Amino acid sequence: MTEPALPRTRPDLDALPPYVPGRTVPGAVKLASNETTAGPLPSVARAIADAAATANRYPDSGAAALTARLAARAGVLPENVAVGCGSVSLCQQLVQATCDPGDEVVFAWRSFEAYPIVTQVALASPVPVPLDADDAHDLDAMAAAVTDRTRVVFVCNPNNPTGTFVGAQAIEEFLAKIPPHVVVALDEAYIEYARPGDGRTDLPRAADPALPDAAVPDSLAIARRHPNVIVLRTFSKAYGLAGVRVGYGIGHTSLIGALRKVFVPFSVSTLAQAAAVACLDAEEELLERTEAVVAERARMAAALTDAGYRVAPSAANFLWLPLGARSAEYADRSADAQVIIRPYGDDGVRITVGTPEENDAFLAFATGAEALRIAGV
Ligand SMILES: *Cc1c(COP(=O)(O)O)cnc(C)c1O
Repeated sequence: MTEPALPRTRPDLDALPPYVPGRTVPGAVKLASNETTAGPLPSVARAIADAAATANRYPDSGAAALTARLAARAGVLPENVAVGCGSVSLCQQLVQATCDPGDEVVFAWRSFEAYPIVTQVALASPVPVPLDADDAHDLDAMAAAVTDRTRVVFVCNPNNPTGTFVGAQAIEEFLAKIPPHVVVALDEAYIEYARPGDGRTDLPRAADPALPDAAVPDSLAIARRHPNVIVLRTFSKAYGLAGVRVGYGIGHTSLIGALRKVFVPFSVSTLAQAAAVACLDAEEELLERTEAVVAERARMAAALTDAGYRVAPSAANFLWLPLGARSAEYADRSADAQVIIRPYGDDGVRITVGTPEENDAFLAFATGAEALRIAGV
């Protein structure tokens, strides 16, 4: 009997690496996905429960209430705001909305795993630019990688998975080198964890008075001055809604309009919209929580440095240990010790900063003889 022919799919998809999510192991401490450990605030859980009562109706595809709130908060018009099913969806929409087949998308590497995937899904060509010796964006090399075919440059700031951060002045100098028709996406999924002074070097105060702080870029002001800049943010990280799926972009109306054209209709649910609005109502309380993470980040980095590790300076809710070829074994032994961290090929491991107890569990492993031996410190 002959087998029926299989449905034909794009052969190039066979070569596409799948997105690898952080592992979840029942009973283990999960420090692998940069989530917040605390669940949603009661007010946010209530908003989700209330929204569930209207689950028989389609969501407002334009997310009018949430869009209006985000616009008012950023001092822009609703036409400058696009809401998406997580900001990873906005990354994909951005490439779809700007690239013809063969056009180029520039990003640092390592950086967010989704960039090469969304690029190739859109039949565009990924142009990864190696991080510098400090695990930070090499913005000069990225600017030099821009060609006539470049449509988008992703700048992940702070960078996932290394946590490194580029300051306002470096961003401005970079933008001055980028042709105005090339879109620069400032992916700020972790910006709520960045603090003045987190920049890799102690940057001098910017000469431009529009930049009040040289260390933490005012990306919304930058986007107002540069129509080719779009700022991508998410409710998944500091706002604690990773399971609900909502993010947003802020930029010029022409870009935002194009993103909306390629939006999958209704892909931001009523529950997600209600949860995001409730988070904005409780924003002070949620952002206050980031202080504890920032303090724990410093404590963990100090303990690891004291133990002999090289720790990349982090402006995010995670730490990066550049362990090279030892990364996979290190992460496996950590999992054996009931702490799930995230290995990245032969580059390093990323550890999310959790609660003090969770972090202590990782530090107990990391400062033990076996971990130190594997890490070679
Ligand atoms: C987590 C993350 C996002 C967004 O995630 P969503 O859950 O899709 O909003 C975007 N960029 C980076 C770099 C991230 O790490």
